[in-house]
Amino acid sequence: MDLLIKNGTIATGSQVFQADIGVDGCIVTHIGRDVRGPASRVLDAAGKFVLPGGIDAHTHFEMPFMGTYTADDFESGTVAAASGGITTIIDFAMQQKGYSLFDALETWRRKADPKVCVDYALHAVVTELNETTFDEIKRVVDYGVPSFKLYMAYRNEGLLLDDASIYRVMQEAAKYGGLVGLHCENEDLIGHFTSTLLKEGKTGAEYHPKTKPTIVEGEAVRRALALAEYAGANMYVVHTSSRLGREAIRDAQQRGIRAFAETCPHYLVFTDEVYARPDGMNFVMSPPIKKEADRASLWQGLAEGDVKTMGSDHACFTTQQKLIGRDDFTKIPNGVAGTEVIIPILYSQGVREGTISLNRLVQVTSFNPARLFGLWPQKGTIAVGSDADLVIFDPEKKVRLTVDNLHSRIDHSIYEDYTCLGYPAITICRGEIVQENGHFTGKKGRGKFLRRKPHADTRLQL
Ligand SMILES: [Zn+2]
Repeated sequence: MDLLIKNGTIATGSQVFQADIGVDGCIVTHIGRDVRGPASRVLDAAGKFVLPGGIDAHTHFEMPFMGTYTADDFESGTVAAASGGITTIIDFAMQQKGYSLFDALETWRRKADPKVCVDYALHAVVTELNETTFDEIKRVVDYGVPSFKLYMAYRNEGLLLDDASIYRVMQEAAKYGGLVGLHCENEDLIGHFTSTLLKEGKTGAEYHPKTKPTIVEGEAVRRALALAEYAGANMYVVHTSSRLGREAIRDAQQRGIRAFAETCPHYLVFTDEVYARPDGMNFVMSPPIKKEADRASLWQGLAEGDVKTMGSDHACFTTQQKLIGRDDFTKIPNGVAGTEVIIPILYSQGVREGTISLNRLVQVTSFNPARLFGLWPQKGTIAVGSDADLVIFDPEKKVRLTVDNLHSRIDHSIYEDYTCLGYPAITICRGEIVQENGHFTGKKGRGKFLRRKPHADTRLQL
């Protein structure tokens, strides 16, 4: 065999057990108490956990946005991902007005294929619904992209889709087992709060969260749920940031609506006090970070299981790019880095403090996204026959999340003062060691495009 991992403690979405793992080529071929070689390389994982590689279903690499481009491309972004134990990312192919969904998928594949260092898949973002795009929905699912993303906000950026179009996409995608992801914020309320503040001369980054109080997300989530229920669709709320949003999704789930919540690491670590800091602009993203009660509720959702996934919403900008909005917070490019910190933060702050179990960490970082996005059982677990996407996680490794220790291209880290206890020591992607002790050891362009499966019976259960 090519790789033998000895003496590790394996954690999947449902089990924790001691075993060795044998890998041949890209695939796990042996799991057992005493797997013997010979093997080209043997790793001793005594005292360490072996986790399924993380799936970050929410990245924006090399994306044109707010007059500039996100700073990480598919190379630096996926090096960062691999360094944090993420072995699959799902990025968003943004439909440009006047172009088809396939144009966007092709554009994104041209950007990603030569550079991507871990495996990747794409979501199709629908920004304009016309007869061409409507007819494309089935073909996009058949192409291996059974998930769509719709924006209820960002009218000025050309992303907002009206409610009738949202409903129509939901109804059409539902026919083919597709999943519809939504950015839920009420655009009209944001516009009202923004113009009021600007008229009062309030232009600093500290006013950004005031334009998007919790009702802005809460109302939009409820509206999206109502549309999805009527359309009979599976829906996914990206970057859930508030108690109101989370509770609306949880209550809908309890009524049998197939709605799933994602949250992001920054909502679990910070509160909106960060916007008053001198570097407040670096925390400008949408939805903005909210109050302590929201932060606590999202942790509770992870613990209780109604928050299903962790995505990073990795869409970051350098200080120079952030300064575009120095005199007007509405012009600050929205977004932060995060793909590298998902697993370390969930472990340090969640597992170590007893809020979530190690199995839950694996569920929200790997098993659930694999199930929801049609990658399971190739991804999302450690099993004979599955891809050898593995993280050897050292529970005693201490890493401060400074700009120097992280791999994004940006020149700052919002987690500068955050020290993790527990960190991925080695990341293995389809049998290949791509990260060892913070050093990327893979090759640019080695990642593969993954064609994903729709939900066969079209009724998604998790
Ligand atoms: Zn996003």
